[in-house]
Amino acid sequence: CGIVGYVGPQVDGKAQQVVLEGLARLEYRGYDSAGLALVGPDGVSSAKKAGKLVNLTTELEAHPLGAASTGIGHTRWATHGGPTDQNAHPHRGGEDLKVAVVHNGIIENFHALKTQLVAEGAEFRSETDTEVAAHLLARAYDGDLTAAMLDVVNRLEGAFTLLAVHADHPGTVVAARRNSPLVIGLGEGENFLGSDVAAFIGYTKSAMEVDQDQLVVITPDDVQVIGFDGTPAEGKRFEVTWDAEA
Ligand code: GLU
Repeated sequence: CGIVGYVGPQVDGKAQQVVLEGLARLEYRGYDSAGLALVGPDGVSSAKKAGKLVNLTTELEAHPLGAASTGIGHTRWATHGGPTDQNAHPHRGGEDLKVAVVHNGIIENFHALKTQLVAEGAEFRSETDTEVAAHLLARAYDGDLTAAMLDVVNRLEGAFTLLAVHADHPGTVVAARRNSPLVIGLGEGENFLGSDVAAFIGYTKSAMEVDQDQLVVITPDDVQVIGFDGTPAEGKRFEVTWDAEA
């Protein structure tokens, strides 16, 4: 299973291409479904399919997504809910579906959170543990996506690499890491996230480590690392030494 994030200029098809290439490079990790969400001037659009990546690319050819500067992608190894289209990520949240999240790992306390969310009227569209994060994020959001993500990660137990986008914030991906891998790729006027450097090795060899229990906010020109307690942190930069074609 793997995760990819991208923010850059709004160049035709680029966000989608970077995300799909990243997912292809992470295929070796194993997966049963794949999906992505893109953010552009018209908000968030997403596509997801059980099976191999080719099922997703076929779907995208039949139903192209909107123009985008920003994208998140996911290959799933199902833990909660079978490998179906509905259970594939991204999962959307909010009445207007403005939030999209992808997640690798397991949210151990999802059952209690889901029970509470359902009681509050949230409408679940999958059987995954992940979907609670989408609904929690939509509810915590009041204009500041980073603050909403901080609130949410402090309510989750278990293991997660979690990436989120919001329709009102094209050009931003917010990510969080607990007991699960996440690394940042540093570009020029564009930045990347991945489960490992393979996700963005075709674009940059400049990378940054993220510690456990840290949040990352990427925009095309900036990367911020923040502890789950809200205090700013420093990522450790390194150069990837192996070759993209290896
Ligand atoms: N627990 C999540 C699910 O079953 C994520 C699995 C993964 O790591 O891909 O959908």
